[in-house]
Amino acid sequence: MEKIATSNLKLGIICGGQLGKMLIQEASKWDIITYTLDADENCPAAGISSVFVKGSNFDYDAVYNFGKLVDILTFEIEHVNVEALKKLKSEGLNIVPDPHVLELIQDKGLQKCFYRDNGIPTASFDLFGCKKDIFNAINENRVKFPFVQKLRKGGFDGRGVAVINNLGEVDKLLEGPSLIEEKVVIEKEIAIIAARNQKGETKCFPAVEMVFNEHANLVERLVCPSSLTPELNSEAEALASKLIESLDMAGLLAVEFFVDVNGQLIVNESAPRPHNSGHHTIESVTTSQYEQHIRAILNLPLGSTSLISPSVLINLLGEPFFDGPVFYEGFSECLAIDGVKIHLYGKKIARPYRKMGHVTVISQSLESANKKADKVMSLLKVKSWKN
Ligand code: ADP
Repeated sequence: MEKIATSNLKLGIICGGQLGKMLIQEASKWDIITYTLDADENCPAAGISSVFVKGSNFDYDAVYNFGKLVDILTFEIEHVNVEALKKLKSEGLNIVPDPHVLELIQDKGLQKCFYRDNGIPTASFDLFGCKKDIFNAINENRVKFPFVQKLRKGGFDGRGVAVINNLGEVDKLLEGPSLIEEKVVIEKEIAIIAARNQKGETKCFPAVEMVFNEHANLVERLVCPSSLTPELNSEAEALASKLIESLDMAGLLAVEFFVDVNGQLIVNESAPRPHNSGHHTIESVTTSQYEQHIRAILNLPLGSTSLISPSVLINLLGEPFFDGPVFYEGFSECLAIDGVKIHLYGKKIARPYRKMGHVTVISQSLESANKKADKVMSLLKVKSWKN
């Protein structure tokens, strides 16, 4: 019989945003000792981590010294100093997912090449060193409008992405090494989180469908189950499993897909960590993504991913024009609605469109969950005392 002593285990988490906070909440159920590294001592996880260490995820020394304090190291963000991780690994530290996965994912160019080389469908693309090379390619007709430019490194939440529809929009082109891909005519955007442990056991969470806030270009509503046909759903799950296996990784891999107008599944990008598209699993799936992450990185059996209830998730974004110490309008009115679960991330300052929390609405049907979510959206507002 295996002997597990989670109470003595020091789990290091690089960055303490909301994902780190929810991971720690789950880790505390098994008495795991959590260490968090973040440059901001007021980050969401700082107050609940067993030990908080101030330092930047980009900084070699900060990451290396942090790694020396823990038994196992993971991360809630992909922007981590990989050189420090590689050094720690060479000295025997257990880092899950492995640094090679992070290195690949950090570079959207390498990520796309990996998809192409491993038979994962993705939008056709070319890599470019700088803006000038893209202008040359446009002049020589090697790049056709409309297209999407993505910086290879550093982008997130839509930053580092430029959609160029015609010649009149080329002033939006971004400087730096980037990839250009065809603009997909998107019918749906969905995400599937796959989990895998070191024994190779793999499980997928149910697909979620994303609805965007057009002003902020952030996901505003996530619904589960998605409207995929059973065939496309199986295909998407098979692709997410194939991808996590091809990467030979343990942990979670959130895979974002487009479904184009021809009903084809196209992998947009993936993230080797807990993901915004999995928050709803806390209430609506037998095992939450956070528990699954811990199971996967500790090489424990993966938990059931069966859906308990349909769910609609809303990101709580700062209202436009409000900038300052936060308050939440309509909080108690929303809690009076059955199945409404409010999560606040502990960010003290509200800014326009800043992600301050989320609400998961669970109900017997998606239709009623959506109606309750409409009500929550009309009542619950993130504002500030000053504006
Ligand atoms: P980020 O990593 O910053 O979230 P994404 O690659 O997810 O960037 O792109 C952000 C959004 O831009 C996507 O969710 C999608 O709506 C749109 N987008 C990205 N790539 C394409 C594409 N090839 N065709 C059409 N729209 C795209």
